[in-house]
Amino acid sequence: PKAPPVAHYNLNNVTITSDPLSNRENILLLTPMARFYQQYWDNLLKLSYPHELITLGFILPKTKEGNAATTELQKQIAKTQKSGPEKDRFKSIIILRQDFDPPLQSQDEAERHKIQNQKIRRAAMAKARNSLLFTTLGPATSWVLWLDADVIETPSDLIQDLAAHNKPVIAPNCFQRFYNPEKKAMDERPYDFNNWQDSPTAVELAKKMGPDDILLEGYADMATYRALMAYMHKTDGLRQETVPLDGVGGAALLVKADVHRDGAMFPPFSFYHLIETEGFAKMAKRLGWQPFGLPNYKVYHYNE
Ligand code: GDP
Ligand code: MN
Repeated sequence: PKAPPVAHYNLNNVTITSDPLSNRENILLLTPMARFYQQYWDNLLKLSYPHELITLGFILPKTKEGNAATTELQKQIAKTQKSGPEKDRFKSIIILRQDFDPPLQSQDEAERHKIQNQKIRRAAMAKARNSLLFTTLGPATSWVLWLDADVIETPSDLIQDLAAHNKPVIAPNCFQRFYNPEKKAMDERPYDFNNWQDSPTAVELAKKMGPDDILLEGYADMATYRALMAYMHKTDGLRQETVPLDGVGGAALLVKADVHRDGAMFPPFSFYHLIETEGFAKMAKRLGWQPFGLPNYKVYHYNE
């Protein structure tokens, strides 16, 4: 019998440029999802990058909540891919269910942000991101866009805007809308504190830590004095202003696929005393890929 045909991909022909639209570059949009928010899906549909060049990948935990989210997600997928307008349809969609660990208990915002819950949570999240990445990254992928399931509002040109900077790793600033009782009006505040520049204090703290200990950002009992991108935002600042970063969050993050292909992943263990997305930034850097952030380019996180 004849041998099956061999698929050849010349990675040199897969371009990764500042103008992905003109070069028809493939985007892999990855979302770890514990809960389904309709606004997340509606925002996805509004992305102006040609949907026929976007592959969606999801990973959901095998919990009651994860099951409910999977059902909701599948309902919306069926609507968009089968009965919706052709221009809304994505190239392909992959859904994974987590098959490791006892799944984490569902936690509300306050509970999951408690410092003693962070190491286990972040390690589980890192594994979820790695599973999702390693099962979906293909030979034709140019860019990977990480977008959390609770990021419910982004500019519609998000992909083009981020890619235009031609950075290996680039993070917009993740904010949260809330009702401000003092102003008696809607307001917004910084949400994601994982985008930061390192400080001498944090470096010193890390030196005194045990090999498995991790540094966490945004906790009073662990003052790192890192420069947080969340606080670099200026109301009148240029949207295209960039700053170099040492740590990144995963709420919204555009990564050149070559950075992941080189081996940069999300360490589910202490890597230079960093874990998950912050560990990823460090690993990218060690591979020679400098992460950047956009302090004045905002995306919005759901408010529980
Ligand atoms: P936070 O915003 O930093 O508090 O983190 P989240 O709890 O929102 O988690 C980040 C992303 O991972 C969101 O998209 C969640 O829906 C998703 N997520 C949270 N926990 C799990 C989990 O156990 N498994 C998977 N697959 N996704 C999760
Ligand atoms: Mn979140």
